[in-house]
Amino acid sequence: MTQSQRVAVIGGGIAGASAAYYLAISEAFDEVILLEAEKQLAQHTTGRSAAVLTENYGAGPIRPLTSASLDFLHNPPAELVEGPLLDRRGMMTIATEPDSYELFERQLEAGKSSRHEIVEIDIDTAAERAPHIKLSPAHRAIWEEHSHDIDVAGLHQAFVRGLRSSGGRIATSTRVDAAMASGDQWTLETTAGVHQVDVVVNAAGAWGDVVAARAGIAPVGLEPKRRTAFMVNSPFPNSGRFPFVAEVHHHWYTRPDGTQFMCSPADEVPSDPCDAKPEEIDIALAIELINTDTKLEIRSVQSSWAGLRTFTADRAMVIGPEPDQPNFIWCVGQGGTGIQTSPGAGQLVADLTTSGAPGSAFDDTGLDLQALLPDRLRN
Ligand SMILES: Cc1cc2nc3c(=O)[nH]c(=O)nc-3n(C[C@H](O)[C@H](O)[C@H](O)COP(=O)(O)OP(=O)(O)OC[C@H]3O[C@@H](n4cnc5c(N)ncnc54)[C@H](O)[C@@H]3O)c2cc1C
Repeated sequence: MTQSQRVAVIGGGIAGASAAYYLAISEAFDEVILLEAEKQLAQHTTGRSAAVLTENYGAGPIRPLTSASLDFLHNPPAELVEGPLLDRRGMMTIATEPDSYELFERQLEAGKSSRHEIVEIDIDTAAERAPHIKLSPAHRAIWEEHSHDIDVAGLHQAFVRGLRSSGGRIATSTRVDAAMASGDQWTLETTAGVHQVDVVVNAAGAWGDVVAARAGIAPVGLEPKRRTAFMVNSPFPNSGRFPFVAEVHHHWYTRPDGTQFMCSPADEVPSDPCDAKPEEIDIALAIELINTDTKLEIRSVQSSWAGLRTFTADRAMVIGPEPDQPNFIWCVGQGGTGIQTSPGAGQLVADLTTSGAPGSAFDDTGLDLQALLPDRLRN
């Protein structure tokens, strides 16, 4: 890699904050600056997630990235956090009709190779653990003991604190509108002035291909997809510790949150990059499905939101240098796992930027770097 002195990370969501943090603590740069278009960090997808860590989720390089993230998530540096980032919550996946059994069994089988095996539980046990679900003898339930709620704000804040305490800078209200390469340098034109840097990290979420185009770099085919979520009051007095429950086809999922439940139709509606808003029809359809399968008896919604989960064609991320412009590093396509993989993804960005190869955090994770590099997505 080059003897670079200054690096700019574009995008202040969880991907950009984690990358900037790990670049700052690598001490390979004289200056690390995080550039965010909005007035506040984490305003887009990062602030709109379901906040769940499940090690059995995602294919290809996602699981190695999650594995490489567990140490930070379980044991974050004490000076960066005000409390634990994780809170254990069991996860249940239910099949509500015989038509779903095949998919159910595939999920069960896939979970057998996991570090924490997932198991089928009988319906009486399922009903005891999830009293808010309508369960009958025809239903089947998978139980995953080792999933967690993530304190997303605490995690993002930990990266921000770590970045600042390592001398990094943050510039909000700073949208990158153009990036020009000249020799080993990049000139970034932003809404708040010009930055000269040696390395650019593209962590712009749904706008990842837009930022690449502004740098004269071919897109990787990012597909932002809207997902809706909403809060409803719980009719149960003690539902706070009930499990996260998902229908096996992902027609819906719910997670308790204090005296409420977060609900989602688990939708994936293609969208342009934007400030996503929920559609009433998606919420209405979700309420119908959730009222059929649960005892939540939803009649009104307390609040709702939507966020863009941004995917590549193979639903793995893009992390690594652009082949013809090695000082342009991608960190996009986080899809539905960008929070739980953020320590690993940030570490990998720093490793690839400073030494060109994954570091020791990826030993024994089975990471296949080729499955993350941008060129795999281009013909
Ligand atoms: C409903 C929902 C549920 C989810 N549940 C989970 C979950 O349980 N677990 C999990 O791990 N993940 C989950 N996710 C996914 C997770 O939220 C995302 O993968 C993650 O937040 C993506 O982070 P990001 O930093 O890439 O994107 P963002 O948070 O969107 O950040 C990108 C940033 O780049 C900025 N930007 C764009 N263009 C420019 C520019 N030109 N100049 C400067 N800045 C720019 C944007 O303003 C934005 O702040 C969920 C997502 C949704 C919507």
